[in-house]
Amino acid sequence: MSRSFLILGDQLSRNVIPPWVMEEAATVLLMENRSLVARPGHLTRTALYLSALRQFAEELRQHGYRVDYRVTSSFSTGLADHVAEYSPTTVVMHRPHGRRAQTLFARCGVQFLPSPFFLTDIEAFAARRYSTMEAFYRDQRRIHEILMEAGEPVGGRWNFDELNRQPLPKDGGTWPTPWSWELSPDETALVRELSATHPGADALAYWPRTREQALAQLDHAVTTIVPLFGPYEDAASTSNWHLAHTRLSVALNLGLLLPGEVVDAVVREFDAGRIPLPSAEGFLRQIIGWREWVWALHQIRDADYPDNNFLGATNPVPSTWRELDEHPMVCLSTALRHLHDFGWTHHIERLMIMTNAATLAGLRPRDVARWMEITFVDGAEWVMEANVIGMGMFADGGATATKPYIAGGNYIKKMTDCCRTCAFQPTERATETACPLTTLYWTFFLDHSERLAGLHRIAPQRRAAEQRPDRVEILQRSDQARRIVRGEISTASHSTSV
Ligand SMILES: Cc1cc2nc3c(=O)[nH]c(=O)nc-3n(C[C@H](O)[C@H](O)[C@H](O)COP(=O)(O)OP(=O)(O)OC[C@H]3O[C@@H](n4cnc5c(N)ncnc54)[C@H](O)[C@@H]3O)c2cc1C
Repeated sequence: MSRSFLILGDQLSRNVIPPWVMEEAATVLLMENRSLVARPGHLTRTALYLSALRQFAEELRQHGYRVDYRVTSSFSTGLADHVAEYSPTTVVMHRPHGRRAQTLFARCGVQFLPSPFFLTDIEAFAARRYSTMEAFYRDQRRIHEILMEAGEPVGGRWNFDELNRQPLPKDGGTWPTPWSWELSPDETALVRELSATHPGADALAYWPRTREQALAQLDHAVTTIVPLFGPYEDAASTSNWHLAHTRLSVALNLGLLLPGEVVDAVVREFDAGRIPLPSAEGFLRQIIGWREWVWALHQIRDADYPDNNFLGATNPVPSTWRELDEHPMVCLSTALRHLHDFGWTHHIERLMIMTNAATLAGLRPRDVARWMEITFVDGAEWVMEANVIGMGMFADGGATATKPYIAGGNYIKKMTDCCRTCAFQPTERATETACPLTTLYWTFFLDHSERLAGLHRIAPQRRAAEQRPDRVEILQRSDQARRIVRGEISTASHSTSV
């Protein structure tokens, strides 16, 4: 009898398996949980998780590990069946990333080791009570000595944000070819099998399923994408889905890459003079700042945090969104098309198009988070809370973000090329052809005037809304605008019935 070591589908790193697993010839337990496969998640996401888990099991076997690969109806059933068959003295695992798995496996008596998949010490994080991500990020730079020189940031500045907010170039820009890796025959068969039941297109080739592929993608990212990262971080395009984003979130979230490896690769290229400082800083801020921040917040927040609903939003996620359908607004249509085609969109499409529209149309934050979790290839419980509930939808009333991330059509027009071909006009507020985001942006301040009263950062916009001469017309149009955002009125019917 010996211990067993349990590895979840987002912990796929051989390098962090404790040495005793091999020394004791302990069994490594991997579970293919069919109830997760059966969820109506994106085709590419579902295939990605299955393929990565199956290939990781094979990698372990080839390296001499004893593997119990269990196809099961639930994690608790799989674990109980494993214990009945192998009688381990204990089952040990790295602490799961998300609360649901932490609760489940703790209840089953599994022993947790500290997570090697993040850089942050949670006890120290909780004790520091950081008030902003920026304060946390600067500490991360100091603690891990990243881009630091004699206790000061390299280049004498902590950030280069003002250089990194450029709109999409007028000609659409030129972007690096995205990394991809061909499907194996097994993967082709898997995709074919899943495509009968799962929404979205097959884009599995664009995402790494093995360590070898993840390392190849990392190399491609640091040599061809990170040097361009930064200037167009906040832009979005109707004709390009990836711009200069690395798309490393999948490799990181599956555990195929560790954050320290990504940091080292970027610093190496920066030291060699191949990545400019603003790009290196802007990118590392994402990895050691934002990513660690949202994970650490998830660890210290209460289990009922996702129920937060500061704005009292009650609408479900519309079927046009869930089915990744055509949409009458070009910005939403573009983001939903990218999501349909690749299971992924970049940050600005998530934040300033999708959750912006969701907040303005009053969608229930918990439902949006759940939908995004199973639809995005990099979706995970721990990522959703701060990003969707906190930042995207302001459902915690300011605990994560100091102001709601909302914008009307004018912002979308400035940062993207979406409005050029859209039937709706970003500068109009209450007309038949007004951009629904513009109408709802002003409605937001009128509807939530009392709730937002204490928020000084948006006081000018709130006052401006209350003083608008056309505020009655804006409110009259708002119901129709919400229905357009929800995709209930198509462009054709819009032009005749509005
Ligand atoms: C509403 C909303 C939903 C999101 N959902 C997810 C999600 O399901 N999974 C996910 O990993 N990220 C999510 N993010 C964060 C971010 O949008 C994605 O990590 C990023 O778009 C992934 O693309 P990339 O790898 O090209 O990122 P890059 O722009 O190249 O950034 C580099 C890396 O930094 C990390 N990162 C940057 N910002 C964040 C952040 N806010 N939270 C967590 N990690 C971050 C990611 O690992 C990413 O790979 C969400 C953000 C918002 C606003």
